[in-house]
Amino acid sequence: MRLVLLGPPGCGKGTQGEKISKKYNIPRFSTGDILRAAIKNGTPLGKKAATFMNRGELVPDELVVDLMAEPIASHSQGFILDGFPRTVGQALGLVKILEKNGIELDAVVNITVAEDAVVKRLGGRRQCSKCGALYHIEYSPSKKDGVCDKCSGSLYQRDDDKEETIRNRLRAYKNETAPLVDYYKTIIKNVDGNGKEEEVFSRISSLI
Ligand code: AMP
Repeated sequence: MRLVLLGPPGCGKGTQGEKISKKYNIPRFSTGDILRAAIKNGTPLGKKAATFMNRGELVPDELVVDLMAEPIASHSQGFILDGFPRTVGQALGLVKILEKNGIELDAVVNITVAEDAVVKRLGGRRQCSKCGALYHIEYSPSKKDGVCDKCSGSLYQRDDDKEETIRNRLRAYKNETAPLVDYYKTIIKNVDGNGKEEEVFSRISSLI
């Protein structure tokens, strides 16, 4: 299965992508995670990406398209793309990568949630600094405050989950990513992203 996960920031792409990956044993590639790792490791890519990410803007297309060529080529039998493509330009870049590998996408899952719900979700989100696991202070808190259940790493709030940056990310979504819903209209499957994680996951599972 070759899948793209689409949706506004905070719609649950990361959480649901992880669940799909585990249940169906398909590798998941998140451009956001790859870029954050590059920043943490101080690589040239990380240095270029940091300015954009900290402002809540999208990283330039050519950087992310280059980033995804290798993982897709080496997992051409199946993958979940989480947060890529995010612009029509990236979608065209993806077409070239797919053609080069003689493969096609099977589905694009579009997770929909209302804007005020997104702000609430992102504002309360916490991530493990060690293993990347995601929590929410209200909806899915860790057992011990500020400590990861899985690896005991410390939980932190991403810089881009702060209020002003969230607004910029939503603007970037509306202007640059939302047009992909039309671009992918022949293979898109819309999923209601409101409700509990498990409810959303069973909606996605029944579609794919
Ligand atoms: P995410 O973890 O998917 O919410 O992504 C966090 C941030 O990483 C975004 O706000 C962008 O700055 C950057 N980013 C992630 N994926 C992409 C992409 N496909 N294109 C451009 N920027 C991206």
